[in-house]
Amino acid sequence: MKRYTRVYAEIDLDAVIENMKSMKRNLAPGTGLVGVVKADGYGHGSVPVARVLEPYVEAYAVATAEEALLLRRHGIPKPILILGPVHESHYASLIEKEIRPVIFTERQARALSKEALSLGKTADFHLAVDTGMSRIGLDADESGVRLAKEICDLPGIRAEGIFTHFARADEADKTWAMAQLASFEHFIKKLEEQGVTIPVRHCANSAAIIDFPQIHMNWARAGISIYGMYPSDEVEKKSVPLRPVMSLRSFVTYVKEILPGRQVSYGGTFAAEKPMRIATIPVGYGDGYPRNLSGRGYVLIQGRKVPVLGRVCMDQLMADVTAVPEADMDTPVTLIGKDGGEEIRVEDLAGWGGGFHYEIVCDIGKRVPRVYLLGGEAVATKDYFEDEYPEI
Ligand SMILES: *Cc1c(COP(=O)(O)O)cnc(C)c1O
Repeated sequence: MKRYTRVYAEIDLDAVIENMKSMKRNLAPGTGLVGVVKADGYGHGSVPVARVLEPYVEAYAVATAEEALLLRRHGIPKPILILGPVHESHYASLIEKEIRPVIFTERQARALSKEALSLGKTADFHLAVDTGMSRIGLDADESGVRLAKEICDLPGIRAEGIFTHFARADEADKTWAMAQLASFEHFIKKLEEQGVTIPVRHCANSAAIIDFPQIHMNWARAGISIYGMYPSDEVEKKSVPLRPVMSLRSFVTYVKEILPGRQVSYGGTFAAEKPMRIATIPVGYGDGYPRNLSGRGYVLIQGRKVPVLGRVCMDQLMADVTAVPEADMDTPVTLIGKDGGEEIRVEDLAGWGGGFHYEIVCDIGKRVPRVYLLGGEAVATKDYFEDEYPEI
């Protein structure tokens, strides 16, 4: 295995497995999990995560056609559902690979039906219902029910599933989520009165998996919880214990002493008031480390939590190691994760910088190789610098 000396993200696949088992314990009987691995598995790497999820999920969900096709190219066999609308030009390749698109307009449905008929296949899809998110989906009213029936009556296509998405299930007050649920159930009932029964129903996201076992239905879509984070601080964390999956590790490249009055980094936002030792760390916003942590973040060095000094640069940042005399070139640095008795969570970064934990992991960039741990051992890496372009 290649040894990375600048920065790498450690992806603990054992934690992914534990998180899946933990969610399974909280699921209503008869409910299956859908593993949401969109945005490259929330920045963790969709393929390795999908591989270890296999025994725990009925299906996978992604956001785009390319993400779905990538999973198939890597031999992921279970159903894959695309949660966002995709251009009709993708339909033929999706049908070939038995990937389920989302459908909620007549135009989408007719295009899918036409492709399926010309390929001589039946195309499975999932119907989206908009019960309050106002993003995608059929209107949750009589016109929506009528359109759903017309769609389901088209030849060559089959509604495998019907789903909706909660806008506020991660809040302590579930009034809005309950209203969306009622609207979804009413929609399904009206559709059944029209003679249309869709086998798979799903509405739960991570927040609902944790807080709402009574509404898990046939499938529940687990996203952020796979990766060991809670959707918000308002969910009942005790119901589903989760372990963080991603750590971000680096090494000190330089240490220097500075005198009072010396400024650190762009803009002089930090100036020393006493003699200090500062460490340079080769990680910056070009790696996805949030620039809003300038003067606000912390990193772990030798098991001690030390502050980020001044602005985070594109490729480097500085930290105060006055209290860590052992810190020297090549000393390990933990930007996310555990070191000794200390831990920095993605949620801490979000709190310090005023960011969003989902976004922070998605944004860990292509310059950061991922190292996968399974059974406690590094078993694989994902490295964006290993690509080749022989024709250019
Ligand atoms: C992203 C997404 C999910 C997963 O949400 P989490 O909060 O990460 O669990 C579920 N359903 C839909 C439609 C999504 O877009």
